[in-house]
Amino acid sequence: MFNIIVLGPPGCGKGTQSNNITKKYGLTHISTGEILREEIELHTHIGRIVKTYIDKGSLVPDDIMMQKVFVSAVNLENSNGLLFDGFPRTILQAEYLDDILRIYDKKISLVFHLNVEENELYNRILHRSIDSKRSDDQLEIAKNRLKVYYKNTFPLIDYYLKQKKLKTISGMAEISEVFGKISSVIDDKINKTEK
Ligand code: AMP
Repeated sequence: MFNIIVLGPPGCGKGTQSNNITKKYGLTHISTGEILREEIELHTHIGRIVKTYIDKGSLVPDDIMMQKVFVSAVNLENSNGLLFDGFPRTILQAEYLDDILRIYDKKISLVFHLNVEENELYNRILHRSIDSKRSDDQLEIAKNRLKVYYKNTFPLIDYYLKQKKLKTISGMAEISEVFGKISSVIDDKINKTEK
């Protein structure tokens, strides 16, 4: 079982690259943003709570997120592996993820950090906002999401560097070029694991 995390600022291409990875390697995609947006669409109790955070560009509280991820992750014992897209976003979430995976005798194999310049992030989010139904793809909210990213999520880079799992990939190139780089890191890791 091969478990991967994709992290990076809003607009870095996390969702697109996560889709590509899950398709190519047969992993199960756990996108916490998608899970939350589904709750909102279904008008559930949790959906009503999380909407107030998402609409401001803030993080949903850790306890809600951990419960959501626990439910998704434990149901997937027979999968080839899990791909976490948008989780963890805080050190507490990262520690929690390590803990639950340990209970199931599993671990994170690789963490991809997609690096994109700030101007380009805004360009992409504003471009996406033309078609997307996402309430948080507006300039002011995107600015807050980026601020929140640097404060809460950026420290994860050091967390996974210390675990020797982090691979920083430039997300400034074409989608296929970025995916080519990601694939070669995964193939390398798979080859080493099989030897
Ligand atoms: P995303 O689709 O990954 O950009 O997530 C959209 C929004 O959902 C974020 O801006 C947060 O408000 C919320 N969210 C998604 N994942 C998490 C998480 N792991 N922790 C806290 N909030 C999250």
